[in-house]
Amino acid sequence: MVQSIAVPNFTNMSEDRAAQFPWIDPLNDGKSRIALLSHMGSDIDIVNDARASFDKVSIDLDDKDIKLIRYLIQHHHTSPFRGVVFKFKVKAPLFVARQWWKHVVASSHNDEQVGWNEKSFRYVAIEDSEDFYVPASFRQQSKSNRQATFGEIPEDQNQKALDIYRSQCEASYKAYKDLLELGVGREQARGVLVPSVYTSWVWTVSLQAVLHFIGLRKGEGAQQEIHFYADAIAQLIQPIVPQTISAWDELNRAV
Ligand SMILES: Cc1cc2nc3c(=O)[nH]c(=O)nc-3n(C[C@H](O)[C@H](O)[C@H](O)COP(=O)(O)OP(=O)(O)OC[C@H]3O[C@@H](n4cnc5c(N)ncnc54)[C@H](O)[C@@H]3O)c2cc1C
Repeated sequence: MVQSIAVPNFTNMSEDRAAQFPWIDPLNDGKSRIALLSHMGSDIDIVNDARASFDKVSIDLDDKDIKLIRYLIQHHHTSPFRGVVFKFKVKAPLFVARQWWKHVVASSHNDEQVGWNEKSFRYVAIEDSEDFYVPASFRQQSKSNRQATFGEIPEDQNQKALDIYRSQCEASYKAYKDLLELGVGREQARGVLVPSVYTSWVWTVSLQAVLHFIGLRKGEGAQQEIHFYADAIAQLIQPIVPQTISAWDELNRAV
């Protein structure tokens, strides 16, 4: 569900400012976040960029324009989708950030124009022992797909798994704090943090790259947690590029 209220412990901005941004809690744990901070362009810009070669401009989106968007998606005419840009602030567990980071073009961490700017645990110490992602339930290891999970583990095992997982997060946080207490620098102390610790970053991407990300991370084999972020992104951008999302959904379902 898209919400539009203040985002505590998430951004460096004041709560008043944070309240302006639509955001979602993709992992539904009260800690995960993705907020749309800003954007440039909409459906109309895609058709106008596509028609630049004819030197034609539409003011309002009509049926012909909607068909053109569909055509562009269907035939992989990608450059008009690069003229629409989004800036997100993401708060996700470190293991999700690692998967996200593989989207080299989408993240443009090899490019100075747009990109990825992340919180540094060299600068910022973790102050909240709860700032770890703890799943509500645990999935079983798939036997046929080495990277995947399926279904949940039996209910009586779930509580045990939760206890083990939670105590490891607590132990990790305690070791981290103890190291800091001994005077160890943040850049070394962070080595004992488990990958479920939350980090955050700002992600600036074109619509083309976003659609590529959503396609892969909502696809078969993607881990459920990053899949939920991909769903959230689709929801957040839908009001800005509704025709693109609708055509893309339909055409991607078809293949
Ligand atoms: C289900 C799943 C499982 C995965 N498992 C693993 C894993 O086990 N280990 C692992 O390391 N990664 C894994 N990945 C990451 C995967 O290999 C990709 O790195 C990631 O999905 C980003 O996709 P991309 O390269 O298409 O995106 P981007 O890096 O954003 O690139 C977008 C597109 O640009 C083009 N492009 C990008 N770079 C180049 C280039 N140098 N030359 C030519 N064209 C280029 C390609 O067409 C590419 O599709 C997995 C991804 C998924 C979805």
